[in-house]
Amino acid sequence: MASTRLRALDGADIEVSDTDIEAFAGQLRGRLVGPADLDYDEARAVWNGLIDKRPGLIARCTGTADVMAAVRFARAHELLLAVRGGGHNVAGAAVCDGGLVVDLSPMKAIRVNPGAGTVRAQGGVRIGDLDHESQAFGLAVPMGVVSETGIAGLTLGGGYGWLTRKYGLSCDNLLSADVVTADGRWVRAGTGPDDDLDLLWAIRGGGGNFGVVTSFDFRAHPIGPEVYFGFVVHAGSAAGEALRGIRAFIEQAPEGVMSVAVLWHGPPLEQIPAEHHGKPVAIHLAVYAGDPAEGERALRAARDIGNPIADLSGPMRYVDLQRFLDVDYPAHDLRYYWKSRYLSGLPDDLIDLLVQRNEASPSPLNTFEMWSLGGAAARVATQDSAFGDRSAPYLLGVEANWERPEDDTANLAWVREVHADVEPFSTGREYVNFPGFYEDENLVRETFGPNFRRLASLKKRYDPMNLFRLNHNIPPAP
Ligand SMILES: Cc1cc2nc3c(=O)[nH]c(=O)nc-3n(C[C@H](O)[C@H](O)[C@H](O)COP(=O)(O)OP(=O)(O)OC[C@H]3O[C@@H](n4cnc5c(N)ncnc54)[C@H](O)[C@@H]3O)c2cc1C
Repeated sequence: MASTRLRALDGADIEVSDTDIEAFAGQLRGRLVGPADLDYDEARAVWNGLIDKRPGLIARCTGTADVMAAVRFARAHELLLAVRGGGHNVAGAAVCDGGLVVDLSPMKAIRVNPGAGTVRAQGGVRIGDLDHESQAFGLAVPMGVVSETGIAGLTLGGGYGWLTRKYGLSCDNLLSADVVTADGRWVRAGTGPDDDLDLLWAIRGGGGNFGVVTSFDFRAHPIGPEVYFGFVVHAGSAAGEALRGIRAFIEQAPEGVMSVAVLWHGPPLEQIPAEHHGKPVAIHLAVYAGDPAEGERALRAARDIGNPIADLSGPMRYVDLQRFLDVDYPAHDLRYYWKSRYLSGLPDDLIDLLVQRNEASPSPLNTFEMWSLGGAAARVATQDSAFGDRSAPYLLGVEANWERPEDDTANLAWVREVHADVEPFSTGREYVNFPGFYEDENLVRETFGPNFRRLASLKKRYDPMNLFRLNHNIPPAP
C-alpha cells in the first residue's frame, strides 16, 4: 500500500498510508498542500527569511471544522504538529520539518459589534485587518506595532503595542475564544456559565500550548481616527543623554503615553540629515492614546529632550501609525533573530552598555528597543492571567535584522552576547514572543514564575501528550 513519510511527535520518521491522507483531505473544506503542489513553497514560507522548514502536509483551514479534523488526524498518527496564525513567530514555530501544519491563514473573518465595543476575529487575522475593520467604527483592539503580524500568536503570548499603558496587553483584552483542544474537541474559553474559565486564564499569555484558537473575542476601545505620534531622532553622539532624558520623561508621563526608545542606525529618510544615515542614532517613538491635541501637550516634554537632529512628530491616522513600521520588517527578504529581557530599571550603566553595543552592531538594521511598561498592563495581578508578573518598568528587545546568510554567525553572536551582558539588569523574565530559537531552557519556567505549576497542570488536563509543543512549551505536569 502506498504511503507518505511524515515526522512523528517524537522526531522519528513514520509512514502514513496515502489512503488515510486522502481520507483526511476529504474531511477538509480547505486544501491539503504537500511538497508536490505548485504552491507548496509559498505555503511553507514564513516571515523570517532565516527559516526554511519543509512540512510534510499543510492543512489550509477554512474554519473550525477543518481545524478539528486536522488536530484529530495529527493526534491519531502522533504527528509533529505546528500551528500557524500570521506566521510571524521569530523562531519559525508556525512551520515544522516533516510534520503537519494547521494553517489558519485563510481564516480572516472579523465582526465588530460597535454597540458592545467588542470585536470577533478568526485565528488567521493580522493586525492590519483588525485595525481596518475596527477603525471604521472608531474602535481599536490593543495589538502590536507592525500591521502584518498575526493577532493569534501575539495575543496568546501577551501583546504589546501603542495602547498597552492605556488599555493593557492584547491578552488582557481577550474576553473569550473558540478553542480546539488536543483531543479535537471544540471548547469555549470564557467567563460565561458554560464556558471554560481555566482555559481562558491559560490562553491569556500561555501561548499555543492548550489548543488551536479558531476565533477570538476582544474588548475594543475608542481611538482615532487620528492620534499624536512622537518621532524624535538624536545623533549617536547624544544617544546616552537622550535615553536619560527619555527615562525621566516616561517616569512622569501620563498613562496614555506609550514610549519605545530605539537605538538603531539612521534610516535614509530625507528629514534626517544625510551624515546620520547608516550611523548610530537614538530614536524616540511615542504615542498618546487619546485626543491628538492632548497628545501634542503630553509629548511636548519628550520633544524638548536634548538637541534632536530630526523631529517628525505630528498627528497621524491610527491605521497609518499601525503601518508606519511595516517597511522596516519585510517578510522573507531579511533574516531575523530576536531575544528580550524584562528590565528592573534603566540605570546609566545599562544605557552606556547599550549605546556602545549599538555602535558595534554587525548590521546597521539591528536595534535595541526599550518599551516603557506600567499603566493598565501593570495593574493585572500576577495570578490573574497566565502571563504572570507585570512589575518590570521596561522590556528590552534585542533585535538582529540582516540580509546575507554569511552574516548569520556574527548577528546571532551579537544578540546572545548582549542578552548575556544585560542579565544583571533584568528581572529574570523574558518576553515569550521574542524568543530567539527557544534555546533557553529556563525561558518558560522563569518567565511564568509562580504561574508555572498551574500552567503545567492545565497542560496535563488539555494536552497530556504535548501535541502542541512547537511554542514556548509548557511540559505537562508529571
Ligand atoms: C515584524 C514583527 C513585529 C512584531 N511586533 C510586536 C509587537 O509590537 N508587540 C508584540 O507583543 N509582539 C510583536 N511581535 C512578536 C509577535 O507577537 C510574535 O511573533 C507572534 O508569534 C506573532 O503571531 P503570529 O500569529 O504571526 O505567529 P505564528 O508564527 O503564526 O505563530 C506563532 C505561534 O503562536 C501559536 N499560534 C499561532 N496561531 C495560533 C492559534 N490560532 N491558536 C493557537 N496557537 C496559535 C503557535 O504556537 C505558533 O507556534 C512582532 C513580531 C514581528 C515578526
